[in-house]
Amino acid sequence: MSQEQLPESAPYVVLGGGVHGLSSAYHIAQALEETGEGSGSDVIVLEKKHLAAGASGIACGVVRNFYFSPPMAEVIRVSVELFETDPAGFGYHPVGYIAAVPEVQAEDCVAIQKQQAEIGYRSDVILGEKACQEHMQAIFPDWNGEGIDAVLHERQGGWAETNKTVENLGRLARSKGVVETDHGSIETDLFVAGAGPWGGHVWRMLGLPPEVRVARKEKPTSPVGDSPRVEADGNGSGYETKPIVTYWKLQEGDYWLDDVELADSSGKEPPVVHLDHVVPLRSDRDGHVIDQGPWGIYYKIGRRGFGVQGGGVPIKLGTETELEPYGHDNPEHIVGDDFTDYFTAGLAWAHERFRGKGDEWHTDPHGGIGAFTPDNYPVVDFVLPNAYMVMDSNHGFKMIGMGRLVANDIVRGGENRLDPFRLARYERGVTHAVSHSPYPWN
Ligand SMILES: Cc1cc2nc3c(=O)[nH]c(=O)nc-3n(C[C@H](O)[C@H](O)[C@H](O)COP(=O)(O)OP(=O)(O)OC[C@H]3O[C@@H](n4cnc5c(N)ncnc54)[C@H](O)[C@@H]3O)c2cc1C
Repeated sequence: MSQEQLPESAPYVVLGGGVHGLSSAYHIAQALEETGEGSGSDVIVLEKKHLAAGASGIACGVVRNFYFSPPMAEVIRVSVELFETDPAGFGYHPVGYIAAVPEVQAEDCVAIQKQQAEIGYRSDVILGEKACQEHMQAIFPDWNGEGIDAVLHERQGGWAETNKTVENLGRLARSKGVVETDHGSIETDLFVAGAGPWGGHVWRMLGLPPEVRVARKEKPTSPVGDSPRVEADGNGSGYETKPIVTYWKLQEGDYWLDDVELADSSGKEPPVVHLDHVVPLRSDRDGHVIDQGPWGIYYKIGRRGFGVQGGGVPIKLGTETELEPYGHDNPEHIVGDDFTDYFTAGLAWAHERFRGKGDEWHTDPHGGIGAFTPDNYPVVDFVLPNAYMVMDSNHGFKMIGMGRLVANDIVRGGENRLDPFRLARYERGVTHAVSHSPYPWN
């Protein structure tokens, strides 16, 4: 749409042509239509570059429900349901997802599987090194399960081709009459931002303070009965201030060998695997210890249809970073050879087929920057009376159904499944459960 064609105002302006902006726009349009309160033409998507120009276009696309926090599991369930409505359109590969972890995370797996069963998400948990080994070797006969004491096998989930998913969300939004533009200025009754890594920039543009007060969880002053409570004495001593956004560098890449593939025992595409361990990780090139542990990798079939695509534990950058150009266009956002060594060492630890191949991998390194919230979980809320933000703390590609909940919140008068993601949780000290995973996002 050109500057001339752009209306002077629109009831809803949604910033961001990634999964959250588009899913929110589509679901808001649908809710307006269904409630008779408007139509898709009331919704304008503002995207400064092009659809999928941000994190949604470069993500690995893993779709899993391996979350320790129950409210997250419900959002993922809604999202998987959306993927399952049109797997081909979304480029969704429902191959399942496996988390293989050491003893320290075994209880987390049991708790997560219980939550999944409660919400009707299909999965199995396997405990004990021998049983885990048998389970994994039925899929990968060359699996090395030493010290892996728990396997959570999600029968739903898998991964999605990121650009197809974004294109499909764009198509769905357009089918409701939603318009996208990168032109001009426009007045609106409600601004909704799905800005991904740019969430901190939008936060500043809205004039919001760069830090939030977070009630300390463990400050047992004046206990009431036996239960410690957070001190909120008005002097701020029961609180710490935390930046609304901290940047992490996500480490990912595509790697392939001339003669070995990541197929399962029947030669088919295997589930996505997430492997965490506490033993030292040794280079498959020269045997040096890369990481004393804990370490972790996740992997799936390569995005070209061969080889292996995956990632590892991200690197914390701090509160300032350069986002432009974003992702693969920026050498600073892309992983280096040290990550190839790390990732292929993890693959070699897990699979006999990859051992001794450390110097033979072809590489297509990628990566990107993610903006994380104070507790590393999404903030989805009205941040001003006329501004709503979906800050997904980098969980987001797999959360494409979040837009449905956002639309309920905005158009249908509220969505209590979003209550755990409100901004006020920080002040109230009701943040999310944290697992033993080495990643910031579980
Ligand atoms: C390397 C990497 C790998 C990942 N892997 C996975 C994975 O396997 N599974 C998973 O679920 N998640 C993964 N994620 C996380 C996931 O990609 C993000 O959480 C999610 O895509 C964020 O979606 P979004 O719509 O909020 O933001 P984005 O997709 O970043 O979209 C934001 C859009 O806003 C636009 N924009 C920004 N500022 C403005 C402005 N001022 N005006 C107009 N437009 C603006 C940008 O151009 C961009 O297109 C990964 C992320 C990265 C970086």
